[in-house]
Amino acid sequence: MSNEKKNLRSLSSEQIEAFFSSISQPKFRARQIEQWLWQKQAKSFEDMTNLPLELRSTLEESFVINQLTVPEEQVSSDGTVKCAIRLHDGMVVEAVLIPADDRMTACISSQVGCSLSCAFCATGKLKRMRNLEPDEIFDQVVAIKEAAHKYFNKPLTNIVYMGMGEPLLNYKNVLTSIYRITNDMGLGMAARRITVSTAGIEKMILRLAEDKVKFRLALSLHAANDEKRSKIMPINEQNSLESLAKALNHFEDVTKNRVTFEYIIFKDFNDKLEDAQELVAFCKKVPARVNIIEYNSIDDQRFEQADPKKVNAFAAYLERAGVVVSIRRSRGKDIDAACGQLANKNQAANA
Ligand code: SF4
Repeated sequence: MSNEKKNLRSLSSEQIEAFFSSISQPKFRARQIEQWLWQKQAKSFEDMTNLPLELRSTLEESFVINQLTVPEEQVSSDGTVKCAIRLHDGMVVEAVLIPADDRMTACISSQVGCSLSCAFCATGKLKRMRNLEPDEIFDQVVAIKEAAHKYFNKPLTNIVYMGMGEPLLNYKNVLTSIYRITNDMGLGMAARRITVSTAGIEKMILRLAEDKVKFRLALSLHAANDEKRSKIMPINEQNSLESLAKALNHFEDVTKNRVTFEYIIFKDFNDKLEDAQELVAFCKKVPARVNIIEYNSIDDQRFEQADPKKVNAFAAYLERAGVVVSIRRSRGKDIDAACGQLANKNQAANA
């Protein structure tokens, strides 16, 4: 081992057990430690009061427990709370609490920046700096859970991986974070309350099916036509709609979990009747519910918000065709917390 102390929460349960056996400690100590780390969210070894003092100092000599801080919270006039999350190395990501009458949703980040450069997205303007570790993803959920308690006195009910980054390009860490969030020795949340949203990477969707995941999957679709989709999402050039449809069908067959299509609607780009027709045709290939999301402009003004009347007509067309659809009025616009807006004010911190 190098002199640098390892982050204890980067170890798997097996690795923790192996460490304890190497220092001749009984197996149950590993379970105690996991409980402290993930269930009780201990911030230091000192907190672990049921461990012998000597063991606590041995742990201290070899490990650290990385922590994040929340240097800033902004509350929108609609109640949305955006938290700046400072990681142990000083990098900053964002996590958002979206309150509604029937649910409290955490929108969390999986990478610092993003490599996929979707044209409408503020995060896509930043380059990808690094993947987040499982504990960094987990801790965002804890931070948002605390915000839900602090501002609304309500428990967190849902989690969406829709903040900064492409979750499926940080596959292992994202799945480990979900394991910790859903485990009884973690936050004990139900997997069906978690949605991972992807820009669409065929081979990673197939891997989710292979891993028989229990959480929900959403595809950021935004256009059901390859030429149009490639214009705003370069990832579509290597992952055509045809290939995504096959992978999503397989995912639905294996997991028995219906996917959701996210569709940000832009003025004069994808808000016409023919776009709705293409979307209906795609929903025939892949049974899915559709969320139509109102667009919020980012600083470059390349896209504009669609006319609400057109949005309603678009949704009505889908509904008449038998598609389950809802319109999501974007939240937290005044604090840049809405979909596609995250990160545009944090570039300096990560430069
Ligand atoms: S929309 Fe998602 S995948 Fe696309 S650039 Fe933004 S963060 Fe990355």
